[in-house]
Amino acid sequence: MTDKIENVLIIGGGPAGLAAAVYTARADLSPMMFAGAPYGGQLMLTSDVENYPGFASILGPELIEKMREQVKHFGTKVLDQNVTKVDFSQTPFKVTAGNVEYRSRAVIIATGAQAIWLGLPSETKLRGKGVSACATCDGFFFKEKIVGVVGGGDSAMEEALFLTKFATEVHIFHRRDAFRASKIMQDRVLSHPKIKVMWNTEVTEVLGDQKVEGVKLKIANKESDFKLDGLFLAIGHTPDTELFKGQVELDEKGYMLTTAIAALSGKKLNKLDSKYQTATSVPGVFAAGDNVDHTYRQAGTAVGMGISAALDTERWLEENI
Ligand SMILES: Cc1cc2nc3c(=O)[nH]c(=O)nc-3n(C[C@H](O)[C@H](O)[C@H](O)COP(=O)(O)OP(=O)(O)OC[C@H]3O[C@@H](n4cnc5c(N)ncnc54)[C@H](O)[C@@H]3O)c2cc1C
Repeated sequence: MTDKIENVLIIGGGPAGLAAAVYTARADLSPMMFAGAPYGGQLMLTSDVENYPGFASILGPELIEKMREQVKHFGTKVLDQNVTKVDFSQTPFKVTAGNVEYRSRAVIIATGAQAIWLGLPSETKLRGKGVSACATCDGFFFKEKIVGVVGGGDSAMEEALFLTKFATEVHIFHRRDAFRASKIMQDRVLSHPKIKVMWNTEVTEVLGDQKVEGVKLKIANKESDFKLDGLFLAIGHTPDTELFKGQVELDEKGYMLTTAIAALSGKKLNKLDSKYQTATSVPGVFAAGDNVDHTYRQAGTAVGMGISAALDTERWLEENI
């Protein structure tokens, strides 16, 4: 155990955690950040980012490096380690990383989420080169192209409909003979002239060397090649919140509940004044980014929430410690 009691420990070094670090550092709180291993989060998995304000185009990893430089410039102590244990049952809160126990008056959780991928080596190789898990982010790159979408739930329907703004053809590959999506979304998809659905179809390989050129499909145990320019995975996301089960309240899908999110369903999380929108069920523990948000999931929205969490933390420390 270290002797020092920190003001604020930030868990997670993606856009949300980095934004929280800039603000808490400039508020003179000397934050310590566990950025995770590997550090940087989901933007490290993509190439061009064209929708982050201030940059017409920047590589995802480059944007993260710039944020990390800024965070270090203002004096945040950054450890590229994973937190392996937390104890929020009493204050100061305890957070363990690399077999060392740290103590802190406040904690900001920004551990993000992970897109679920098919797990094919060819898919991993071509991530950011035509394989994506975010149509909002990457759809624009597929103007006048042919794309595929894997999935059958509401997000797959949304991604496919969004992609019709750019692509000439959108093919949905679904491994069952019916969608799980809501009826209204299914109707929109099935009646769209640009969208074609291939039922009982599995993607078994992504084809291409430097960029996606097609996919190998398995239909009724027969394999065939299908030409396309982009493949979008829409089979879900998993929030990185396993570590916090039993420590703070999570929703049924494992996302962290904050005052703001709980209020959407008329729920009050704790006795905290609702001005702390990013507060979790434990006073002094705040959450931000894709581990909270299953709706917008953008770097910009994660940064915004990270900033809110930093400001909430600063005020909470002033008023409660
Ligand atoms: C392929 C792809 C392309 C995308 N393109 C864009 C785009 O063009 N524009 C855009 O705005 N958004 C894009 N996004 C979405 C964007 O990346 C996310 O919305 C954003 O990164 C969320 O930020 P975050 O900080 O909440 O979480 P994340 O980016 O997921 O970062 C979480 C961090 O927490 C760390 N962590 C997890 N567990 C622990 C632990 N126990 N201890 C310490 N650290 C931990 C992780 O290692 C990671 O570094 C894209 C996403 C994907 C998957």
